[in-house]
Amino acid sequence: MKPNGISLNTHSNGHAHNGHSHNHDDLLTDELIDEQGDTHGSANLETPLRADAFDLDDSLKIDLIEEHFREIMTILGLDLSDDSLKGTPRRVAKMYVNETFKGLNPANKPSTTLFDNKYQYNQMLVERDITVQSYCEHHFVPIIGKAHVAYISSGKVIGLSKLNRIVQHFAKRPQVQERLTMQIADELKKALQTEDVAVIIDAAHLCVSTRGVNDTASSTLTAAYSGKFEDEATKQEFLKYVGMNKPTI
Ligand SMILES: [Zn+2]
Repeated sequence: MKPNGISLNTHSNGHAHNGHSHNHDDLLTDELIDEQGDTHGSANLETPLRADAFDLDDSLKIDLIEEHFREIMTILGLDLSDDSLKGTPRRVAKMYVNETFKGLNPANKPSTTLFDNKYQYNQMLVERDITVQSYCEHHFVPIIGKAHVAYISSGKVIGLSKLNRIVQHFAKRPQVQERLTMQIADELKKALQTEDVAVIIDAAHLCVSTRGVNDTASSTLTAAYSGKFEDEATKQEFLKYVGMNKPTI
């Protein structure tokens, strides 16, 4: 795994982005592509973005996505002159840029103001059951679940709702759950100026429940513990607060 430092992930795998070249993609068989969708092989903390990711402004992005989404629907054989369908390309484009993938843009990252921990509360603070609504980057369908985050103050605190907003920011991207978990933990460490943070995500992947293996009962758990949370007693205390300390079998 790469260190947590900022790394700009430019596409070095030769994928063409002009929409017409398929030279390198030909090397990936359909079977291999399906398998990669299941393996969650991304080991990078940073979301793979190109250096020119924000050269286009949001309104131009919406116009271009609208155009391309109309193309997808047309290829599927849908009649875009139908009243029910004709607004869909623009609706989807606006949803992608303004909502679903809003967290790609660092300009949308919530600002965090640190306050002095004037009550000298030096126990762990747990924010549990934070709604997670993300998007699987392998299938472009939702990941829906909950996050539990905790920290032990280093002398500073942030507003409680900022914890929710940090989770939401990184969720609003194409994601794999492992990376989402690490990105939230990393941001909490920076925002709170402490290594003592913990993050658990328990989420259902619609790519698992509504296609492929069609398993509607399973969920995926990921966790990141650092600093004092690597200590077994502290970790168990956190798990107790979020109701996950008992073995379920
Ligand atoms: Zn998926």
